[in-house]
Amino acid sequence: MDIATLTVKEAARGLRAKDYSSVELTQAVLAAIRERDGALNAYLSVDAEGALRQAADADAARASGREGDLLGVPIAVKDLINVDGQPCTCASKILRGYTACYDATVSARLRQAGAVFAGRTNMDEFAMGSSTEASAFRTTRNPHDGTRVPGGSSGGSAAAVAGGEALAALGTDTGGSIRQPASFCGCVGLKPSYGRVSRYGVTAYASSLDQVGPMTKTVEDAATVLSCLAGRDPRDGTTPDVPVPDYGAALRGGLKGLRIGLPKEYYIAGTDPAVMACVRGAVEACAAAGAEVVEVSLPHTEYAIAVYYIVATAEASANLARFDGVRYGHRTANPESVFGLYAKSRAEGFGTEVKRRIILGTYVLSSGYYDAYYGRAQKVRTLIRRDYEAAFRSCDVLMTPVAPTAAYRIGEACDDPLKMYLGDIFTVPANLAGLCGLSVPCGKTPEGLPVGLQVLGPAFGECAVLRAGQGVEELVGAE
Ligand code: GLN
Repeated sequence: MDIATLTVKEAARGLRAKDYSSVELTQAVLAAIRERDGALNAYLSVDAEGALRQAADADAARASGREGDLLGVPIAVKDLINVDGQPCTCASKILRGYTACYDATVSARLRQAGAVFAGRTNMDEFAMGSSTEASAFRTTRNPHDGTRVPGGSSGGSAAAVAGGEALAALGTDTGGSIRQPASFCGCVGLKPSYGRVSRYGVTAYASSLDQVGPMTKTVEDAATVLSCLAGRDPRDGTTPDVPVPDYGAALRGGLKGLRIGLPKEYYIAGTDPAVMACVRGAVEACAAAGAEVVEVSLPHTEYAIAVYYIVATAEASANLARFDGVRYGHRTANPESVFGLYAKSRAEGFGTEVKRRIILGTYVLSSGYYDAYYGRAQKVRTLIRRDYEAAFRSCDVLMTPVAPTAAYRIGEACDDPLKMYLGDIFTVPANLAGLCGLSVPCGKTPEGLPVGLQVLGPAFGECAVLRAGQGVEELVGAE
């Protein structure tokens, strides 16, 4: 078996046919990490011993008659999702050395399905960033070009999957952090609708925007992992009791008759022509395969970045208040007062970007400015959501670029936060509106860098998105 190309589906078949055991498969993943991660830096930690123990348990369960698509399949997890007994640092010095003492609901569900937790993937500190350069610990490299970023914030997960160090991984997406690194690295990334997947046990960045989702080599694998993750969780009040449909069956819908909307505000000057060419090529291929293409308008798109960076930072400033040096995480060595303990622990523990967000968020929430910033942003957010509701009356899915560029060079964007924020223009609206979105590879630039196509669907419309994504994958090819 070759971990570089092996999919979850193929691994499930190999395990079922007894071509290899889960212990052998896990050993192969661990060997791939050993061999490649020195160059890629996709992982922050690897739990070889724990993974092999879980793999042995999965083999024993299978021997006693158990079956399942994820039974014995190793999955990498972004380092802000709790897995009982494994580190959970959020790529921050403030949580260096912290070990999770319970499973997030998503981890518990994977564990119940028999998945194996091989390691923890790198990310921008507290998921704040678009390049993984804001990790306090290491710089993950793009598997297609080691001088370039993997995207972010789930850059470690994307690089692990695309770089042949994982079959599948979990990421989180608050404003694009699953879709954009999937696009930069050339894998599939699915951001479920707000409320589709539980966030219990996932370190909160911006609670009205965060979602957990799969990063995989194929759309089918994304459907398989989502089927395991999705559904009501009494521990997360934002998960409604909406039945989980058969995502596998949705893949077989085909492109014929699918109504694809192209929002004209997403097809603008400023996007790299090589990216646009791939996206347009994929849309044309869908049309040739029988899809109907219509133009739609999302007039409030131009406000999305401003609204997002107000809402997200406001929520982050509240969520990160818990890292105070008292309950957990880094504590300063010699505090001179209680206030000094908080201030110094946080000053020493948080990185520059996290501090910038906390300051921004505190500012927009402060009395005197609340109505002018946060209150207004919430109102514009409603207008953005309504734009999408109107658009989805005339189409089943929207197709757009994921990002205005392919992967850029390490160091190129990190001195200019605004430039980096603007790169999130095509992904943040889906979070503001609670939609689901997929990034599926749709070609490469002349330099050989992958380009993702974004497929957006209405809230709880994952079936349409998976159907369209599968169609694109078959037409354009995964590589
Ligand atoms: N790049 C965006 C930000 O920095 C999105 C991050 C995310 O989705 N976690 O906030």
